[in-house]
Amino acid sequence: MNKKKIGFIGLGIMGKPMAKNLLKAGYPLVVHDVDPRPVEELVKSGAEKADSPREVAKRTDVIIAMLPDSADVEQVILAERGVLEGARPGSTIIDMSSIAPLVSRKIFAEAEKKGVEVLDAPVSGGEPAAIQGTLAIMVGGKDKVFDECLDLLRVMGKSVVRVGEVGAGQVTKLANQIIVALNIEALSEAFVLAVKAGVDPDLVYKAIRGGLAGSNVLDAKMNMILDGNFKPGFRIRLHQKDLKNALLTATQLDVPLPITSMVQQILGALVNEGKGELDHSAIATFTEGLAKVKVRRRTKPD
Ligand code: NAD
Repeated sequence: MNKKKIGFIGLGIMGKPMAKNLLKAGYPLVVHDVDPRPVEELVKSGAEKADSPREVAKRTDVIIAMLPDSADVEQVILAERGVLEGARPGSTIIDMSSIAPLVSRKIFAEAEKKGVEVLDAPVSGGEPAAIQGTLAIMVGGKDKVFDECLDLLRVMGKSVVRVGEVGAGQVTKLANQIIVALNIEALSEAFVLAVKAGVDPDLVYKAIRGGLAGSNVLDAKMNMILDGNFKPGFRIRLHQKDLKNALLTATQLDVPLPITSMVQQILGALVNEGKGELDHSAIATFTEGLAKVKVRRRTKPD
């Protein structure tokens, strides 16, 4: 059976390897990004390029977006020369960006008027999982549309779970992002304390990772902090955006999120310090700055 033709818009840290995996799995691909560099790279790997989101939609059956925030997704899908201007009735938009649930529902309502289906399908796992095709994908949308897109989502993700109607995927992602951000802040405070008390942070890590404090977050981020390697990965400015969307959603629902709002302020302070493009493991530098110590691997004496 012929594979559906896929459009892919947004070829950044996540989108580029996800698009490459679709190509490798044999899906014909049409790509677009405002940055020409990843577009050329994908064309060399066998994709076609398109000059606008509308053009992508005209030439494909399923259009995937992997963009920074709500405003970018609205621009690419709803604005002039956007996806909805080109999409045929019966085609499907899968928005895999992490955005506000409210905006996912707005896009769903606009697409429905044109007979275009929508799934919101944000991901977790970061760049390594995007490269390996082992992302965790949390999907909102109609059962039938989910079933139709499952094979192609499984090319990019190891775990693909439908969590409800459109918007539910984004709500799940917000929960995920709260857990990750608060975890990184917790491990930052714990390790700054250990260093200030004169204990080797590498040994603290080795001692605790198998116990109750052990976690995927600890294993993914601790070596980056110990090495002072803050190359993204997941940028601080994007995590600040996710917590902003969590607080926006919580305000609409009258849910107080006291610790989330504190960590969101910390992320804002780091962005103001010029650290917005660093990996979110650099959240540790905030508490390091307060305590005037660095959580780094000890170099062995000669
Ligand atoms: P990124 O900034 O590396 O990539 C975004 C891409 O979108 C860039 O190539 C940019 O040029 C392109 N773009 C922006 N506006 C555009 C427009 N109007 N038209 C066409 N292209 C446009 O971001 P990323 O890290 O790949 O993240 C993408 C999304 O995935 C975000 O919502 C992020 O929160 C989420 N996410 C990221 C990670 C991670 O570890 N990086 C993990 C899970 C989820």
